[in-house]
Amino acid sequence: MSANSSRQQAIQNIVNRSPMDVSPPEALGEIWAVDVFNLSRMEWALSKTAFKAIKKTVQTGAPLDAATADVVAAAMKEWAVSRGAKFFSHIFYPMTNITAEKHDGFIVTNSDGGAITEFTGSLLIKGEPDGSSFPNGSLRMTNAARGYTAWDPTSPAYIMQTDNGATLMIPSVFMSWTGEALDKKIPLLRSNAAMNEAGQKVLALMGETDIATLNSSCGAEQEYFLVDAYFANSRPDLLLAGRTLFGAPSAKGQEFDDHYFGAIPARVQVFMQDYEDQLYRLGIPAKTHHNEVAPGQFEIAPYFEAANVAADHQQLMMTLMKATAKKHGFMCLLHEKPFAGINGSGKHVNWSVGNSTQGNLLDPGSTPHENLLFLLFCGAVIRGVHLYGPLLRAVIATASNDHRLGANEAPPAILSVYLGDQLEKVFTDIKEGNIHSGELGGEMDLGLSQILKFERDPGDRNRTSPFAFTGNRFEFRAVGSSQSVSGPLVAMNTMLADSLNWIAGKLETALDGGASQADAVVGVLKELMSEHSNVVFGGDGYSAEWHRAAVEERGLKNIPTTADALPALREASVVELFSSTGVLSPVELESRFEVYAEQYVLSIEVEAKLVIDMAQTLIYPAATSYLEMLSSTAQNMSIMGVEMDDSIAKIVAGHINAMTATTAKLREALATEDFSSTEEHMQFCAKSIRPLMDEVRVAADALEGYVADELWPLPKYQEMLFIR
Ligand code: ADP
Ligand code: MG
Repeated sequence: MSANSSRQQAIQNIVNRSPMDVSPPEALGEIWAVDVFNLSRMEWALSKTAFKAIKKTVQTGAPLDAATADVVAAAMKEWAVSRGAKFFSHIFYPMTNITAEKHDGFIVTNSDGGAITEFTGSLLIKGEPDGSSFPNGSLRMTNAARGYTAWDPTSPAYIMQTDNGATLMIPSVFMSWTGEALDKKIPLLRSNAAMNEAGQKVLALMGETDIATLNSSCGAEQEYFLVDAYFANSRPDLLLAGRTLFGAPSAKGQEFDDHYFGAIPARVQVFMQDYEDQLYRLGIPAKTHHNEVAPGQFEIAPYFEAANVAADHQQLMMTLMKATAKKHGFMCLLHEKPFAGINGSGKHVNWSVGNSTQGNLLDPGSTPHENLLFLLFCGAVIRGVHLYGPLLRAVIATASNDHRLGANEAPPAILSVYLGDQLEKVFTDIKEGNIHSGELGGEMDLGLSQILKFERDPGDRNRTSPFAFTGNRFEFRAVGSSQSVSGPLVAMNTMLADSLNWIAGKLETALDGGASQADAVVGVLKELMSEHSNVVFGGDGYSAEWHRAAVEERGLKNIPTTADALPALREASVVELFSSTGVLSPVELESRFEVYAEQYVLSIEVEAKLVIDMAQTLIYPAATSYLEMLSSTAQNMSIMGVEMDDSIAKIVAGHINAMTATTAKLREALATEDFSSTEEHMQFCAKSIRPLMDEVRVAADALEGYVADELWPLPKYQEMLFIR
């Protein structure tokens, strides 16, 4: 088949494809969490004492004794086997964004050749994958490969159903033989503990006596693209890099704003239903779905959960989303910028902290000026973002997210906090030493008698802010769509822990000095705001004026690329932040720098190789064939005595030559070795390799606008974005 006939064939196949049959939706009550070994299932399966012990561990993080672990293991196995599982797996989250699993059978043979199933507490508690192939920075030598996985009882085990069987999945942490964290879960659990410890101090100083364990919460809004698999599979760039490395813009893109919240296409609805039913079976509370801004782009958001569970669920959602899309003949793209020229995808991480006794500590209520606990916790966040902005930028730094940040479709690469008008006023007043009174929100009255009045939110939304207060939580909007949410959650919990510790120290001094509680709080917040109010910004984050003022007048940093962002992980203040809170030791932190830097360099190098390959083997041949067509037409016409205008041939030849020349330069740049440091290598990728890739693309995309459609080898933007 010629390139074009395979494209035409794909279009025919897609147009004639009908939505897949899926079983009719089942009632939520029938399927909700049926595949999860959660507390209610444990209550039913365990003795009263064992249940009490595990419940305490789940809710407060209290240690679990070995005897109870044995009892839980037996009950878990019993339940899993009754649901068809023959295997179990400790599932864990290495420093890359992936999810890892190694499966083991429950089977044990006895001396007469019979087989029984067995699963003990020690098998539940500890697994030992040969973790040597997981990136670990320089935490381990390759020959020192031992790694352990250990059960995290605070995230429920579940059964993963696939077409060829069921496996019991046990959420786990992953560490080296020497006990260093090799994963994303250990720091998350530690950051939560550090935040709890610091928060307890503040609450106690504020006179609270009954204080339950504080936990962070997370609700992540996931954006993604669906492209038909017939198209995706004929694009090496989508297959290997998850984004298009070439492609001229479609004549129509998103300029009519007709996709956002539009009617969901039938095939996509069927996909969503199938996907969400699977999520419900796994106890994942999918809540919202809609079309996003770009054609072919969608969003799903689950209801928020405890951060640790939400992070595990997020990983599972990404895995299942890709697998289910495949089943429905789509490829699901989680890349931050799959298509140039239209919006990319993010993952808004909604985050708050609270407990069962004091409630959500970031909920201002209607009179925030009276809500001293809220003011302290919100102030703590403001201080954290100001002090550790570069860290927050570093934890969202990936080669793919760099395409999105600062591109006027996603927040700028400058970390600031949006509070909303009314709340900003409360904090500005505090800075002046005044407590502002007056209610937040107020009633929304349209003057239409048939529309009921309702409470409006205390502030409008600001979609240009990377870090926005949204009523009872903060929304970290700059996180990338393909990322694990753990890194951002770790950074937020840890900076909050640090700020709460600082606040506790100040409060203690003021209270010891005889200040009233209200005076002590205002005093602390006044000091806090006079040092950190520069980070509060309610204006247009996309504007050039902000880019200037943020840096020149407010001393904030604009950090455009990952190469510039990751070195923040080596800053003395960040090393101190993580070690003083016990979240990451200096070596653990350094290993993260090394792993993320390596990932950055590798992803750019892979893409660069692919650019060379596609330019040379797909685009060059198509373009020269077209030139051949033009020249033979011209020759034939000239034989007939008709002189043809040769301007098109000259333009095409010009673009071909430009593409060939830049491809050669890129090839040469890729061969560069001998970097004196990782930083230098990253900078080379950002400043030399990437621009050359872009140059090759400019020439190739120009050719797409001239070469005969029947010769063009790659599915075009308008086809991938609009045919489904
Ligand atoms: P938006 O209007 O921002 O698009 P969505 O409904 O798409 O809102 O998503 C908001 C997310 O914030 C949901 O996942 C929701 O559960 C979550 N959320 C709400 N309250 C909290 C909270 N206290 N802590 C963390 N996340 C929360
Ligand atoms: Mg949303």
